[in-house]
Amino acid sequence: MSNKPIILWFRQDLRLSDNPALEYAAKSLRPIIPIYILDVRANIGAASKWWLHHSLQSLAQSLNQKLNFFIGNPQEIIDKLIRENNAAEIVWNRCYEPAVIKRDKGIKEYLKNQNVQVKSFNSALLLEPQDTLKEDNTNYKVFTAFYKKNYLQGNSKIRLPIAKPPNLNLLKIESLSLTDLSLIPKIKWYKNFEKIWQPGENGAFIALDKFLAKGLKGYKELRNRADLEYSSKLSPHLHFGEISPNIIWHNIRSYSQKHGYDVDAEHFLSELVWREFSSNLLYFFPDLPQKNLQRKFDNFPWQENNDFLIKWQKGMTGYPIVDAGMRELWQTGFMHNRVRMIVASFLVKHLMIDWRRGLEWFHDCLVDADIANNRASWQWVAGSGADAAPYFRIFNPILQGQKFDPEGNYTKKFVPELKQLPIKHLFSPWLTPESILAALNIRIGIDYPKPIVVHEKARQKALAAYNAISV
Ligand code: FAD
Repeated sequence: MSNKPIILWFRQDLRLSDNPALEYAAKSLRPIIPIYILDVRANIGAASKWWLHHSLQSLAQSLNQKLNFFIGNPQEIIDKLIRENNAAEIVWNRCYEPAVIKRDKGIKEYLKNQNVQVKSFNSALLLEPQDTLKEDNTNYKVFTAFYKKNYLQGNSKIRLPIAKPPNLNLLKIESLSLTDLSLIPKIKWYKNFEKIWQPGENGAFIALDKFLAKGLKGYKELRNRADLEYSSKLSPHLHFGEISPNIIWHNIRSYSQKHGYDVDAEHFLSELVWREFSSNLLYFFPDLPQKNLQRKFDNFPWQENNDFLIKWQKGMTGYPIVDAGMRELWQTGFMHNRVRMIVASFLVKHLMIDWRRGLEWFHDCLVDADIANNRASWQWVAGSGADAAPYFRIFNPILQGQKFDPEGNYTKKFVPELKQLPIKHLFSPWLTPESILAALNIRIGIDYPKPIVVHEKARQKALAAYNAISV
């Protein structure tokens, strides 16, 4: 065995457990040079940059501060590193975003031509897109069929997690420091994040354990309640690969079998499969980030209304459940899934603003911003995606608030100016009798905005526009 080192390129797999590239590098018995490259062309949102910084800090600590940082063009950096360190091989775990696939293919080809061994692995998905095809070798466009065929209980194709390798022989070489990557945004709007989140592999396991202990039982019924903690908050950990879907999958299965939470567990696992479905859609429809999957939406008369867009972004639409969601996003880098659907529907239907404006804002503000999930979900809400919610199903933001935040605790937390309002009026404050508003010292239009559109009129306008493109 030659003592030439092997380069281990960390990307969206910022963990040591269940990491196939790391396992391969460890088994090679070569010295390992662990690297992270900040690709200058990558479009990373501000909230995600905050997360990435802390996640890398945690990974560096797990690697005894032997993680080597670089910024620039990955191919040029890798080429130089291989020559300077006389490395025999490079390994990484695959990513599935179209631009990254293209970049990685180019790097692979280039290195193979230089006689450098390259190996890549799946660490991000339960099943890779090419392993989930229909009998006729085409990809699924309907979620239920995709789920039943590939993931229903009894399916043995989902591999068991790999243990963390012991005794890694890691090499620290000359490189940048984590702070040189300048990931922490200059404006400190993220100061609350530190109290809420723990980026990194340890934080991911804590989130999983907390969910198993407190969130799984009742998940199916209660996950839609914005005011309750019945979801795992694993999405940013999954996005950055701090925990693998396989670890989550097998932990949920064994825990639920032990405790008899089968219905909740199946439902949770099906949500995890929505993540796989989104990655599949992005893989097979690389235009998904920008183009409507249903082409009739190319003719939809989206409105250019910057004033409305800003009011939506700031949580000042006058619809309390929408505003609570948008403020949750700004303050925490996260938004409850049901509320994501409500605010997205409001933007594309009530305000008739193009879904791409919404996803850009989400991309910048979410700590779990994920090209596949964000794009597929926006197209799902807009009605322009595969297996999407029909455009004509327009959420009523008043009823949605009453249903999914029945005591108003979520809304009052993020819209404190309405804290005193009785629940009966909370989701339609402009209809509250003047005497009640005066007694509570709340002035609609001054302390809290009037609704920027009238629900029923906006609904009719959106439906007319939809009918026009549907003929
Ligand atoms: P849980 O309910 O605990 O679900 C477990 C995991 O399953 C999640 O962590 C996630 O990985 C996956 N999952 C759950 N719901 C979905 C879904 N509808 N689609 C795909 N995967 C899902 N999710 C992101 O990870 N990144 C995004 O950028 C993103 N953008 C969204 C935009 C819109 C408009 C909407 C409606 C949804 C978006 N989602 C996105 C999906 C979903 O809202 C989040 O995954 C979920 O709220 C994360 O919270 P959780 O981890 O507590 O979820």
